[in-house]
Amino acid sequence: MTDRAGAPVDPVLLARALRQWSEMGLPALFLDQLDRSQAVSLASASASAAAPVAPVLPSIPDEVGAPRPSTVEETAAAPVEAPAPAPTPVDDFDDEALREAVRGCTLCALHQTRKQTVYADGAPDARVMVVGEAPGAHEDATGLPFVGEAGRLLDLMLAAIDLSRRDSVYICNVLKCRPPGNRNPQPDEIASCSPYLRRQIELVRPEAILAVGSFAARLLTGSGDTASLGSLRGTVHSYEGVPLVVTYHPAALLRNRTWSRPAWDDLQLLRRVMEGA
Ligand code: SF4
Repeated sequence: MTDRAGAPVDPVLLARALRQWSEMGLPALFLDQLDRSQAVSLASASASAAAPVAPVLPSIPDEVGAPRPSTVEETAAAPVEAPAPAPTPVDDFDDEALREAVRGCTLCALHQTRKQTVYADGAPDARVMVVGEAPGAHEDATGLPFVGEAGRLLDLMLAAIDLSRRDSVYICNVLKCRPPGNRNPQPDEIASCSPYLRRQIELVRPEAILAVGSFAARLLTGSGDTASLGSLRGTVHSYEGVPLVVTYHPAALLRNRTWSRPAWDDLQLLRRVMEGA
Protein backbone atom coordinates (compact mmCIF):
# COMPACT_ATOMS: atom_id res chain seq x y z
CA MET A 1 0.00 0.00 0.00
CA THR A 2 1.19 3.51 -0.78
CA ASP A 3 -0.13 6.97 -0.06
CA ARG A 4 -0.92 9.54 -2.74
CA ALA A 5 2.72 10.56 -2.92
CA GLY A 6 3.68 6.94 -3.59
CA ALA A 7 5.31 6.42 -0.17
CA PRO A 8 4.72 3.05 1.58
CA VAL A 9 1.94 3.00 4.19
CA ASP A 10 2.48 1.07 7.42
CA PRO A 11 -0.60 -1.21 7.73
CA VAL A 12 -0.50 -1.02 11.55
CA LEU A 13 -0.62 2.76 11.46
CA LEU A 14 -3.34 2.65 8.83
CA ALA A 15 -5.41 0.27 10.93
CA ARG A 16 -4.94 2.48 13.96
CA ALA A 17 -5.94 5.53 11.95
CA LEU A 18 -9.09 3.81 10.72
CA ARG A 19 -9.97 2.91 14.27
CA GLN A 20 -9.50 6.53 15.33
CA TRP A 21 -11.53 7.62 12.35
CA SER A 22 -14.34 5.33 13.39
CA GLU A 23 -14.19 6.48 17.03
CA MET A 24 -14.37 10.09 15.92
CA GLY A 25 -17.65 9.30 14.20
CA LEU A 26 -16.33 10.61 10.90
CA PRO A 27 -17.84 9.64 7.55
CA ALA A 28 -17.04 6.20 6.15
CA LEU A 29 -13.68 5.96 4.42
CA PHE A 30 -13.39 4.26 1.08
CA LEU A 31 -10.01 2.70 0.33
CA ASP A 32 -10.00 1.56 -3.26
CA GLN A 33 -7.39 -0.34 -5.23
CA LEU A 34 -6.51 -2.76 -2.42
CA ASP A 35 -5.56 -6.19 -3.66
CA ARG A 36 -6.17 -9.36 -1.67
CA SER A 37 -2.77 -9.46 0.03
CA GLN A 38 -3.04 -5.82 1.04
CA ALA A 39 -6.50 -6.39 2.49
CA VAL A 40 -5.19 -9.37 4.46
CA SER A 41 -2.25 -7.26 5.65
CA LEU A 42 -4.61 -4.53 6.81
CA ALA A 43 -6.87 -7.01 8.60
CA SER A 44 -3.84 -8.52 10.32
CA ALA A 45 -2.65 -5.10 11.38
CA SER A 46 -6.12 -4.37 12.68
CA ALA A 47 -5.89 -7.38 14.94
CA SER A 48 -2.52 -6.25 16.26
CA ALA A 49 -3.99 -2.82 16.91
CA ALA A 50 -6.51 -4.64 19.16
CA ALA A 51 -9.49 -2.76 17.82
CA PRO A 52 -12.06 -3.11 15.08
CA VAL A 53 -11.23 -1.45 11.79
CA ALA A 54 -13.68 0.84 10.03
CA PRO A 55 -15.18 -0.36 6.76
CA VAL A 56 -12.75 -0.36 3.84
CA LEU A 57 -14.31 1.60 1.00
CA PRO A 58 -13.45 3.88 -2.05
CA SER A 59 -11.71 7.12 -1.05
CA ILE A 60 -13.70 10.29 -0.53
CA PRO A 61 -12.77 13.28 -2.70
CA ASP A 62 -11.15 16.40 -1.30
CA GLU A 63 -13.94 18.65 -0.10
CA VAL A 64 -14.80 22.14 -1.20
CA GLY A 65 -12.41 24.63 0.29
CA ALA A 66 -9.93 21.97 1.29
CA PRO A 67 -6.62 23.15 0.01
CA ARG A 68 -4.02 21.07 -1.77
CA PRO A 69 -2.61 17.93 -0.23
CA SER A 70 0.59 17.95 1.75
CA THR A 71 3.77 16.42 0.40
CA VAL A 72 7.22 15.78 1.78
CA GLU A 73 8.65 17.41 -1.34
CA GLU A 74 7.00 20.66 -0.36
CA THR A 75 8.71 20.34 3.00
CA ALA A 76 12.11 20.57 1.40
CA ALA A 77 11.10 23.05 -1.25
CA ALA A 78 9.30 25.73 0.66
CA PRO A 79 10.36 26.35 4.27
CA VAL A 80 8.94 29.66 5.42
CA GLU A 81 10.53 31.51 8.34
CA ALA A 82 8.48 33.95 10.42
CA PRO A 83 10.14 37.26 11.31
CA ALA A 84 11.97 37.39 14.65
CA PRO A 85 9.87 39.03 17.39
CA ALA A 86 11.08 41.86 19.63
CA PRO A 87 12.43 41.04 23.16
CA THR A 88 9.92 41.17 26.04
CA PRO A 89 10.15 41.15 29.88
CA VAL A 90 9.25 37.45 30.12
CA ASP A 91 12.06 36.24 27.89
CA ASP A 92 14.15 35.02 30.86
CA PHE A 93 11.32 33.45 32.88
CA ASP A 94 11.37 29.76 33.70
CA ASP A 95 8.18 27.73 33.44
CA GLU A 96 7.05 28.39 37.00
CA ALA A 97 7.66 32.13 36.77
CA LEU A 98 5.91 32.27 33.42
CA ARG A 99 2.90 30.39 34.74
CA GLU A 100 2.69 32.80 37.67
CA ALA A 101 2.98 35.80 35.35
CA VAL A 102 0.12 34.50 33.24
CA ARG A 103 -1.98 33.77 36.32
CA GLY A 104 -1.75 37.38 37.47
CA CYS A 105 -1.77 39.00 34.03
CA THR A 106 -3.90 42.07 33.44
CA LEU A 107 -2.28 43.21 30.20
CA CYS A 108 -5.49 43.13 28.20
CA ALA A 109 -9.18 43.51 28.94
CA LEU A 110 -9.81 39.77 28.93
CA HIS A 111 -8.62 39.55 32.52
CA GLN A 112 -11.85 41.27 33.54
CA THR A 113 -14.11 38.52 32.22
CA ARG A 114 -12.07 35.33 32.70
CA LYS A 115 -12.78 32.85 35.46
CA GLN A 116 -9.13 31.81 35.37
CA THR A 117 -6.18 31.78 33.02
CA VAL A 118 -5.42 28.70 30.92
CA TYR A 119 -1.68 28.19 30.72
CA ALA A 120 -0.97 24.76 29.22
CA ASP A 121 -1.37 21.03 29.54
CA GLY A 122 0.79 18.09 28.59
CA ALA A 123 4.39 17.02 28.78
CA PRO A 124 6.96 19.74 29.53
CA ASP A 125 9.53 17.82 27.44
CA ALA A 126 7.08 17.23 24.60
CA ARG A 127 8.10 16.29 21.09
CA VAL A 128 5.22 18.26 19.62
CA MET A 129 3.61 21.49 20.72
CA VAL A 130 0.00 22.09 19.74
CA VAL A 131 -1.02 25.74 19.67
CA GLY A 132 -4.69 26.68 19.48
CA GLU A 133 -6.60 29.92 19.54
CA ALA A 134 -8.04 30.73 22.97
CA PRO A 135 -9.84 29.06 25.88
CA GLY A 136 -13.54 28.33 25.55
CA ALA A 137 -16.11 27.89 28.27
CA HIS A 138 -14.88 24.44 29.37
CA GLU A 139 -11.28 25.63 29.43
CA ASP A 140 -12.20 28.77 31.36
CA ALA A 141 -13.96 26.58 33.92
CA THR A 142 -11.21 23.96 34.28
CA GLY A 143 -8.04 25.95 33.64
CA LEU A 144 -6.91 23.39 31.05
CA PRO A 145 -6.66 23.81 27.27
CA PHE A 146 -8.58 21.64 24.84
CA VAL A 147 -11.06 19.93 27.11
CA GLY A 148 -14.60 19.07 26.08
CA GLU A 149 -15.53 17.62 22.71
CA ALA A 150 -12.90 19.49 20.70
CA GLY A 151 -10.25 18.37 23.17
CA ARG A 152 -11.32 14.75 22.86
CA LEU A 153 -11.12 15.01 19.09
CA LEU A 154 -7.65 16.53 19.34
CA ASP A 155 -6.54 13.67 21.58
CA LEU A 156 -7.83 11.15 19.02
CA MET A 157 -6.10 12.97 16.18
CA LEU A 158 -2.83 12.90 18.09
CA ALA A 159 -3.25 9.26 19.05
CA ALA A 160 -3.63 8.41 15.37
CA ILE A 161 0.01 9.39 14.90
CA ASP A 162 1.17 7.88 18.21
CA LEU A 163 1.23 11.10 20.22
CA SER A 164 -0.43 11.88 23.53
CA ARG A 165 -0.66 14.88 25.79
CA ARG A 166 0.46 12.73 28.70
CA ASP A 167 3.75 11.65 27.15
CA SER A 168 4.67 13.57 24.05
CA VAL A 169 2.55 16.67 23.43
CA TYR A 170 2.37 20.08 25.08
CA ILE A 171 -0.86 21.98 24.42
CA CYS A 172 -1.57 25.67 24.82
CA ASN A 173 -3.28 28.60 23.13
CA VAL A 174 -2.34 31.96 21.69
CA LEU A 175 -4.55 33.65 24.30
CA LYS A 176 -4.51 32.52 27.90
CA CYS A 177 -7.90 34.03 28.78
CA ARG A 178 -11.30 33.34 27.26
CA PRO A 179 -12.76 35.98 24.93
CA PRO A 180 -16.36 36.63 26.00
CA GLY A 181 -18.82 34.54 24.05
CA ASN A 182 -15.93 32.82 22.27
CA ARG A 183 -15.54 35.75 19.93
CA ASN A 184 -12.43 36.01 17.80
CA PRO A 185 -9.23 37.24 19.48
CA GLN A 186 -8.55 40.90 18.84
CA PRO A 187 -5.19 42.14 17.50
CA ASP A 188 -4.32 43.99 20.73
CA GLU A 189 -5.08 40.87 22.79
CA ILE A 190 -2.84 38.74 20.58
CA ALA A 191 -0.08 41.32 20.76
CA SER A 192 -0.29 41.47 24.55
CA CYS A 193 -0.41 37.71 25.06
CA SER A 194 1.95 36.36 22.39
CA PRO A 195 5.17 36.90 24.42
CA TYR A 196 3.92 34.21 26.82
CA LEU A 197 3.49 31.78 23.96
CA ARG A 198 6.87 32.63 22.54
CA ARG A 199 8.52 31.91 25.89
CA GLN A 200 6.58 28.65 26.23
CA ILE A 201 7.95 27.49 22.89
CA GLU A 202 11.48 28.43 23.97
CA LEU A 203 11.08 26.47 27.22
CA VAL A 204 9.56 23.33 25.69
CA ARG A 205 11.81 23.34 22.62
CA PRO A 206 9.60 20.92 20.69
CA GLU A 207 10.71 19.02 17.63
CA ALA A 208 7.71 20.38 15.78
CA ILE A 209 4.74 22.68 16.27
CA LEU A 210 1.18 22.01 15.12
CA ALA A 211 -0.81 25.24 14.79
CA VAL A 212 -4.54 24.52 14.86
CA GLY A 213 -6.81 27.18 13.47
CA SER A 214 -6.15 30.37 11.57
CA PHE A 215 -5.22 32.65 14.49
CA ALA A 216 -2.40 30.41 15.72
CA ALA A 217 -1.34 29.71 12.14
CA ARG A 218 -1.14 33.38 11.16
CA LEU A 219 0.72 34.37 14.31
CA LEU A 220 3.30 31.60 14.19
CA THR A 221 3.93 31.79 10.46
CA GLY A 222 4.10 35.57 10.53
CA SER A 223 1.57 35.79 7.72
CA GLY A 224 -0.88 38.64 7.47
CA ASP A 225 -4.23 38.95 9.21
CA THR A 226 -6.07 37.97 6.06
CA ALA A 227 -4.09 34.83 5.18
CA SER A 228 -6.46 31.91 4.86
CA LEU A 229 -5.85 28.65 6.65
CA GLY A 230 -5.97 26.94 3.27
CA SER A 231 -3.08 29.01 1.98
CA LEU A 232 -0.97 28.04 5.01
CA ARG A 233 -1.69 24.30 5.00
CA GLY A 234 0.39 21.78 3.11
CA THR A 235 3.71 23.55 3.71
CA VAL A 236 6.22 23.08 6.49
CA HIS A 237 6.85 26.53 7.91
CA SER A 238 9.52 27.40 10.44
CA TYR A 239 9.05 29.16 13.75
CA GLU A 240 12.51 30.26 14.83
CA GLY A 241 13.95 27.08 13.42
CA VAL A 242 11.21 24.76 14.69
CA PRO A 243 9.22 23.04 11.90
CA LEU A 244 5.64 24.20 11.94
CA VAL A 245 2.61 22.49 10.37
CA VAL A 246 -0.82 24.09 10.10
CA THR A 247 -4.19 22.38 10.28
CA TYR A 248 -7.83 22.96 11.14
CA HIS A 249 -8.95 23.62 14.70
CA PRO A 250 -10.71 20.54 16.15
CA ALA A 251 -13.77 22.67 16.90
CA ALA A 252 -13.96 23.54 13.19
CA LEU A 253 -13.63 19.86 12.30
CA LEU A 254 -16.59 19.11 14.55
CA ARG A 255 -18.63 21.66 12.62
CA ASN A 256 -17.45 20.56 9.18
CA ARG A 257 -16.61 16.88 8.90
CA THR A 258 -15.62 17.25 5.23
CA TRP A 259 -12.36 18.81 6.45
CA SER A 260 -11.39 15.55 8.12
CA ARG A 261 -9.50 14.27 5.09
CA PRO A 262 -7.23 17.34 4.69
CA ALA A 263 -6.72 17.36 8.46
CA TRP A 264 -5.53 13.77 8.19
CA ASP A 265 -3.13 14.85 5.43
CA ASP A 266 -1.78 17.51 7.78
CA LEU A 267 -1.20 14.95 10.53
CA GLN A 268 0.66 12.75 8.10
CA LEU A 269 2.82 15.71 7.12
CA LEU A 270 3.56 16.33 10.81
CA ARG A 271 4.45 12.68 11.28
CA ARG A 272 6.85 12.79 8.33
CA VAL A 273 8.45 15.95 9.68
CA MET A 274 9.03 14.21 13.01
CA GLU A 275 10.43 11.12 11.35
CA GLY A 276 12.90 13.32 9.52
CA ALA A 277 13.78 15.37 12.59
S1 SF4 B 1 -5.31 37.10 27.40
FE1 SF4 B 1 -3.10 37.09 27.79
S2 SF4 B 1 -2.49 39.27 27.80
FE2 SF4 B 1 -4.75 39.19 28.06
S3 SF4 B 1 -5.05 39.21 30.31
FE3 SF4 B 1 -5.02 37.06 29.62
S4 SF4 B 1 -2.89 36.41 29.93
FE4 SF4 B 1 -2.88 38.66 29.94
